[in-house]
Formats: sequence, C-alpha cells, structure tokens
Amino acid sequence: MTTFVDVEGAQLPVISDCDIVVVGAGPAGQAAAVSAARNGASVTLLERYHHLGGMASGGMVLVLDDMVNEGNEVVTTGIVDEFVDRLSKQDAAVFPPSEDCLTNWEMWKKWSRWGCIDFHQTGMPQPIIHAVAFDPDAWKRVALDMVVESKVNLRTHSWFSDVIREGGRITGVIAQTKQGRQVIRAKYVVDATGDLDVGAAAGAEYIDGQFIVTTVFRLANVDTQKAIDYEFAHPEEYKKLDREARRRIGGAWGMWWLKTPIDGVVWCNCPHMPGYDGISVEGMVTSEVEGRERMMKLYHFVKENMPGFEDAQMLGAAEQMGIRQTRLLQGEYVVTKDDVKSRRHFQDTVCRGRDYYTPYRALLPKGIDNLIVAGRHYSVESDAQKLSREIPPCMAQGEAAGVAAKLALEGNVALRDVDFTAIQKQMRAQGADPGDQPSPNALIEPVAAE
Ligand SMILES: Cc1cc2nc3c(=O)[nH]c(=O)nc-3n(C[C@H](O)[C@H](O)[C@H](O)COP(=O)(O)OP(=O)(O)OC[C@H]3O[C@@H](n4cnc5c(N)ncnc54)[C@H](O)[C@@H]3O)c2cc1C
Repeated sequence: MTTFVDVEGAQLPVISDCDIVVVGAGPAGQAAAVSAARNGASVTLLERYHHLGGMASGGMVLVLDDMVNEGNEVVTTGIVDEFVDRLSKQDAAVFPPSEDCLTNWEMWKKWSRWGCIDFHQTGMPQPIIHAVAFDPDAWKRVALDMVVESKVNLRTHSWFSDVIREGGRITGVIAQTKQGRQVIRAKYVVDATGDLDVGAAAGAEYIDGQFIVTTVFRLANVDTQKAIDYEFAHPEEYKKLDREARRRIGGAWGMWWLKTPIDGVVWCNCPHMPGYDGISVEGMVTSEVEGRERMMKLYHFVKENMPGFEDAQMLGAAEQMGIRQTRLLQGEYVVTKDDVKSRRHFQDTVCRGRDYYTPYRALLPKGIDNLIVAGRHYSVESDAQKLSREIPPCMAQGEAAGVAAKLALEGNVALRDVDFTAIQKQMRAQGADPGDQPSPNALIEPVAAE
C-alpha cells in the first residue's frame, strides 16, 4: 500500500524508503550508488534523463584522464578500473600499453590523437600516459549493468526538485516525474548532481562557479590516418589549416579532434563558450544555438580543406550541453588552487586524482548531518575545480561517498562523525586508492582533521 506524506498541503506518494538516496547518475553518482549497495545498503538512484553517465555519456566527454601521478603511477583504481575493464571487454575502450607510455615522437604520433597525453606538461612531445578513450553508448551499458547487478533501485526519468528537511537532517527528496511529484525517504543523501541541486535546496553554503561550456560533437567517416600522416609530413601547412579551423569553431584545446573506439569517428571537444551560466535556462538555450552554429562552421571548413576530412559527416552533438562548473559547495573544508598545485596531502584524504588529494571534509556541507556530495561540485575554489574535475577523480569521490554513507548508517551517526580511517580502510578493501599513503612527490603538511 502506498504511503503518502504531506508536503506543504499536497499529499505526495512515497515511492521508496531506503537507507541511501543518490541523486544524479553521472560518473560520481553511479560509483556512489554501486559502492554503497555493494556494502549492503538499500540504495535508490535518481536520474533526470533516461541514461546513466552524465557528462561521460550524454555529454560525450570521451577520454578518462587525471588517472596517473608522475611516472605513470595509476591513482584512480577501484570502480574506475572496473569500468575500464568492462568497457574493454565490449571493445569500447582504447589506452596505451604500459610499454608505450614514453616521451618520444614515435609514441606521440601513435597515441596523441587518442588523447592519451599528459596535457599538464608544456614541453613537446608531451608524455604518453595511461588515459582511456571510450565509447559513450558502451558507458551507458556498463553503468546500467553495474547498477542493476548491485541491486540499486534505479529511478531514471525522475528530476530532483526539492528536499524535505527536518532540522539538521534531510528526511526525503522529491522528484518531479510524468506521474507527478514523488518522495524518496532516506537516512542519508548523496548529492551527485554536478550542480549541487540537493545541497542548494537544503540550504548548504555554496559559490556560483563558472567555466566555458561546450556543445561537444562527433564527426564520422574521417580518414584519421591520412589526417595524422598529413600533420606529420606537412607540419607548417597543417598548422595553418588547424589555426583556421579553430578560428571558425571559436576556441578549442590543443587538439580539437581525437580518435574514438569507432573507426573513422572523431570526438570534437569544442567550441569553448565562456560567460554562460550552466544552470540558467536562458544560458543553456543561447549556448546550444551558438554551439551548433559554430560546429557547422568548423565542419564545412574541414570538409573542404583538411586532408582526411574530405568525406566527413556530421554525426551530431551530445545530448547534454557540456557543463564544466556551476555551483560549488563551500563545506567543512574548501580545497584551494594552492592545495591542488602544491599536491598537498591531507590526513583525511579519502580519494585522489592525478597528483592531488581530496580530504573527506571537502565532501561535507556545513550544518547538514546526513548529506554528502560527490563530483564536480565538491567543496573547492573555482580555479582549483578547473584542475580537479575530471571523470575518474569524480568517480573516486563517489566511491568514497558511498562507503562513508554506509559507515554512517552502520554507526547511526552524522556523516561528519564517520572515522575517515574507516573510509580509507574500506576503500582499500574494495581495490580503490584512498590516497592515505601519499606519493613521494606529495606535499606532506598534515592538516588536522576535525
Ligand atoms: C566539454 C567537457 C569536456 C571535458 N573533458 C574531460 C576529459 O577529457 N576527461 C575527463 O576525465 N573529464 C572531462 N571533463 C570533466 C568531466 O566530464 C566532469 O567533470 C564529470 O563528468 C563530472 O562528473 P559528475 O558525476 O560530478 O557530474 P555529471 O557528469 O555532470 O553528472 C551529473 C548527473 O546528475 C544528473 N542530474 C543533475 N541534476 C539532476 C536533478 N536535478 N535530478 C536528477 N538528476 C540530475 C545529470 O543528468 C547527470 O547524470 C569534461 C567536461 C566537459 C563539460
């Protein structure tokens, strides 16, 4: 029999009464849900779209990076690793074997157009490192398999709209669906919306961050080998064409096209469009129109001028606008740019990416006992987030948040009272690197955990 709760005079059905609700099924949310469920919690996962994966699938962000510290030390293991394994089994992931992770022109020619480079290094050729090019639809399949296998109660097509809060706790979340509003009651809540939707609704402190937005797209029928050969045989001519292509698209990283696991299909991680607010409807409508205009300008130019692109076809833009940064939690600890750049290690580090460490406190809002965040909206300065927001570290945050929520449930305590050493221990037990043992290049300046 359905239970109803009174929300400001409206009787809303309770469609789930669970231990942990995870809101948002992007890279962070799916990892959080799987991690908590595998540890024995009853978990409901809410997602507004029909697919799982967020930016990694619907946003068509197609290279996993920030996975290695200097010297090719892989630091994002656990669920990230499992994902890569499962994608590989579907022929949907490409990455260099360790013997190819070198710094020379031969390996550069072989791997750079897969995006497997250390783009933080400025000298050329940049080192080839462990990074993974993958297919977005395979990501959706793998995510779905893992969520279903872990017996997570999946609620897609459910747009989080509000919280039910009693004092310092959230007792439930409300989702808008085609069937009307529905309530999910939970003891602990993971906000993995990327935009801090839950935290903002619950009154958590945050800042409005902003970064470039992108209508990522793909081209098909590209002769990638011909394009690469031309680039190497005629570097000056290529540079000229490339410069003009970038002018047409209006902003791109060093490599505006990268190979994907589907032969002849290339990923275009551009244009760069600054000044748009990723949570305003007006901003998203205008940027969609602008992005689509710009991508067609680039398409026509390269088709007519760039060797290898003569027969290219527009495969289309990603389903989701590429949003890199919006609201950022200002929680128990705010990670600074200096923390990231200096590789500062924290005693309560529970996950890591590249050469930076994330303290447990940076996942916790102030003043709300049972809410934890995971993903690109974690507690961080805007400039620091730009350096620490890649998919694998967001997944690692999700894995840690899932563990933390389950430990809080077991102890019936507020999330901030969970012993961070217990999170580190459990992360290790499930194959993830919690970053408790700093690498030799870390800045060891322990900050006392509160
Ligand atoms: C154009 C672009 C290029 C990038 N390039 C790279 C790259 O090369 N390599 C890399 O590793 N990273 C890259 N990134 C960064 C990376 O994609 C993101 O930082 C990462 O996906 C963040 O994961 P997340 O789970 O925190 O958020 P998201 O991926 O944004 O997922 C959030 C999820 O929550 C859901 N959601 C949001 N609000 C609600 C709501 N109200 N109700 C229900 N569900 C909701 C969303 O639909 C989504 O599924 C790039 C990002 C962009 C935009």
